[in-house]
Amino acid sequence: MPNRNILNDKFDLGFFPTPLHLLKKLTEKFDYNIYIKRDDQTGLATGGNKTRKLEYLIKDASDGGYDTVITAGAQQSNHCRQTAAACVIAGLECHLLVNNFKPEISQGNLLLDNLLGAKVHYSEDSKKSRKEDLQELKNSLEKKGKKVYLIPVGGSNFIGSLGYVSAMKEIAVQLNQQNIKNPYIFFATSSGGTQSGMMTGQSLFNTDAILMPVQIDKEKDYSLSLENEILEILEESEKQLDLSKSFIINDIPVIKGYNIAEYGTLTDKEKYAINLLAKTEGILLDPVYTGRAFFGMIDILKNKKIPTGSNVIFWHTGGTPALFSYAEGLQT
Ligand SMILES: *Cc1c(COP(=O)(O)O)cnc(C)c1O
Repeated sequence: MPNRNILNDKFDLGFFPTPLHLLKKLTEKFDYNIYIKRDDQTGLATGGNKTRKLEYLIKDASDGGYDTVITAGAQQSNHCRQTAAACVIAGLECHLLVNNFKPEISQGNLLLDNLLGAKVHYSEDSKKSRKEDLQELKNSLEKKGKKVYLIPVGGSNFIGSLGYVSAMKEIAVQLNQQNIKNPYIFFATSSGGTQSGMMTGQSLFNTDAILMPVQIDKEKDYSLSLENEILEILEESEKQLDLSKSFIINDIPVIKGYNIAEYGTLTDKEKYAINLLAKTEGILLDPVYTGRAFFGMIDILKNKKIPTGSNVIFWHTGGTPALFSYAEGLQT
């Protein structure tokens, strides 16, 4: 029996299962049955996909007797904001390393980081890599006697990915209850933890879903490719969870072509997607991740790149607080 108990070993931070429901008006507009999985409603300080990962990471930190958590991200990092909230709940000190200089006024997620009591450090014009800066911050806190638990960017390592292994178990029940067969599941993929968790969950719980991960970040030639980062986590899962499957790089689907603009750049495509879902269904997307991924999904449906009549699920991964820091770009 694989070591699946590990999935029950978590620190509760959110409200699960999140709803899975039909998008009625959008379904009428397109030749597909379009559903949405609401991980924007996980409940942790406005929610998002990092809540699921943090349930395992925070458990690991508190079991290990750590008193301080550090992590890093963009200024509008949803991961940083949810980590800050999780630390409040777990009684841990939280330090966040965010890119660039301190802005005159903190908006969106950065505002919430501060409200949640996290200590925000700015990388300013550091010439070092984020990894090195993070290690330096860890060392300085350890010198002050803190026991520091380091969460990687996006919470994407094996432990964090367990959140989406168990999310696949959760959605398998809902698919069965709602009689949704062979769904294409679209979602935003960035640091790889969500996708690797879903892939592991697929092989453990045998759902008939087809994963459609839309790549968000522009390809960089100086870092490991997203596929390689995902493969590293999958290899760890094979060992730790005794998977019968052994993944290779070609097993990893990644939809490219929607990651032309830089990470965080709002273009007409993201704006179109945000307006479409807001004005047809009253649901808010975010400018960085879900706006881009939803555009990709709609483009694929409009061009009938998957069989018409199929069941399609958009897995909403959250991020709506970032909308407020894009107020200027979103004016109409
Ligand atoms: C972090 C994030 C993602 C990407 O998840 P990864 O596990 O990093 O691939 C998608 N959507 C939102 C809103 C996020 O904050």
